[in-house]
Amino acid sequence: MSLPTLLPGATLGMLGGGQLGRMFTIAARNMGYKVIVLEPDTGSPAGQLADKHIVAAYDDENALRELSEQCDVITTEFENIPADVLNKLAETLPVHPSAAAVEKAQDRIVEKEFILSCGLLPVPYGVINTNSDIATATKDLNFPAILKTARFGYDGKGQQTINSADEVEAAFKETGQVSCVLEQRIDLDCEISVVLGRNQHGKSHCFPVSENVHKDGILYQSICPAKVDENIITAAQAAAKRLADKLDYIGVLAVEFFVTQQGELLVNEMAPRTHNSGHFTIDACLTSQFEQQVRMICGLPFGDSKLLSPIVMTNMLGDLWIGKNEKMSEPKWNNLLENTKTKLHLYGKAEARKGRKMGHFCTLGESVEEAQEQANAIFNKLAAD
Ligand code: ADP
Ligand code: MG
Repeated sequence: MSLPTLLPGATLGMLGGGQLGRMFTIAARNMGYKVIVLEPDTGSPAGQLADKHIVAAYDDENALRELSEQCDVITTEFENIPADVLNKLAETLPVHPSAAAVEKAQDRIVEKEFILSCGLLPVPYGVINTNSDIATATKDLNFPAILKTARFGYDGKGQQTINSADEVEAAFKETGQVSCVLEQRIDLDCEISVVLGRNQHGKSHCFPVSENVHKDGILYQSICPAKVDENIITAAQAAAKRLADKLDYIGVLAVEFFVTQQGELLVNEMAPRTHNSGHFTIDACLTSQFEQQVRMICGLPFGDSKLLSPIVMTNMLGDLWIGKNEKMSEPKWNNLLENTKTKLHLYGKAEARKGRKMGHFCTLGESVEEAQEQANAIFNKLAAD
């Protein structure tokens, strides 16, 4: 079935109200589309800017009826939307990405099996559903390893470092004995990610690959272009396309990769949505990942995604709002705004908390080295007093 082309004036439904939904809403409204956001939190980043914010749980039947009556297509910014909800909506209108695709990214066990089925390499892992799985899961793994809950982890949450097989049982207990994967901790050369758009005709179009620097399991900076060999870039883009093809994906998909010290490329995880490591596209590409999402779900042609300048994106966590004696105040914005090649993006979150993504800034430069030096200098002068 061919998707109808939805032109400006159509109404796009967004499941989830976070920052990814907000930047999607900005891109869509810029192009003349209407956006309706379904999100239980009042005052959410996307809800604030949408034409309409339905404040209800994702599985609220009245809310889903309202969405399907008023929207022309549904998309998502959040991988934990229940698959049932996506399937229910799909009975009456197009939903991109599909429940089947989103489901593969909701559970690390399912995701890794899927990666293997595509002929790609995940991080070496074992599965732990009950205590009796521990012996098998640890048999072929070297330590240190990382125990990750199979579901609902993000920004390093739900992860514990394990130094020896003896520690697994206690750590598994700590999770409440929910299904987990135990992953080899990889000696990383670097981390990279591929964000791509894929259309209804099975064509994919990748954004330039970024190199991602994490601190404490949370993305700190994305650097583009990535400082890695061209053959790694090509392999990562081909792998991401293969995953998207096998999912018969429509929309924007992100794939995170590890590059090992030995130069091997491993698939870390996928996100069936736009991605933090693709925020640089707003300021350095002709088409942002959010506009590409609009284009893909509306059946429009791809926008050009060429990189126009070296760029570094730096995340701003709530930690920057925490001053001396734990007193909350604003970061020193002047130290950022005085830099003429830096763009500020704030997500409109009322309350800053440690580890919470409050915004990001993008710094352009003649080279990534220069941009990164400037970005780090800004970051170091930003924290509240
Ligand atoms: P999340 O869903 O929280 O993003 P990830 O599995 O991507 O979960 O982990 C977050 C970060 O923690 C990764 O980007 C990486 O920096 C680090 N990390 C996670 N797993 C491993 C691993 N097996 N080896 C080395 N580093 C890891
Ligand atoms: Mg990740």
